[in-house]
Amino acid sequence: MRCPHCGGFDDKVIDSRTLANGDAIRRRRECCNCGYRFTSYERTEDKQLMVIKRSGRREPFDRIKIERGVTHALEKRPVSHMTIEQLVNEVEDLASMVGKVNHEIDSAAIGDLVLEKLAALDKVGYIRFASVYRHFGTIDEFVKEIQKMRESSPHTKGNSQNSNGENPVMQEDQISNNKP
Ligand SMILES: [Zn+2]
Repeated sequence: MRCPHCGGFDDKVIDSRTLANGDAIRRRRECCNCGYRFTSYERTEDKQLMVIKRSGRREPFDRIKIERGVTHALEKRPVSHMTIEQLVNEVEDLASMVGKVNHEIDSAAIGDLVLEKLAALDKVGYIRFASVYRHFGTIDEFVKEIQKMRESSPHTKGNSQNSNGENPVMQEDQISNNKP
């Protein structure tokens, strides 16, 4: 397959995987000439996953767009390109499952899948992506999102956990809640 970077025809397949819904095989390829990595798909002709935009328009699912958005959100964050690629793979897999009956999925549903993955990966990236994707209209909405994130991540409550095995986090919360 022709390398989109240098035009060479010599590549090797470094990863090959059937998508979760069984409609397509995704192959990760590396150009033997320049080392550029690209993705190819093998699928039956009428089973392309379509994305329904907010405007109601449909367009083919495009992992490059997702990768671009995620990469932007994780700019200067300690997350490797491989990890981003893995995240995009997982999102693509989940999207193909969601859309497996009608071969279409709402763009909002894809955004939510990305947010779910980012929340587990990098909080800063999550907030950045959410602020672009959800178009926070007010500071209140933004603060609410951050609070929601705090509530759902017990690991950010400080380092007093496991001090005596008696659920100290719960006690701390109760004490602070009882203050006037
Ligand atoms: Zn090349």
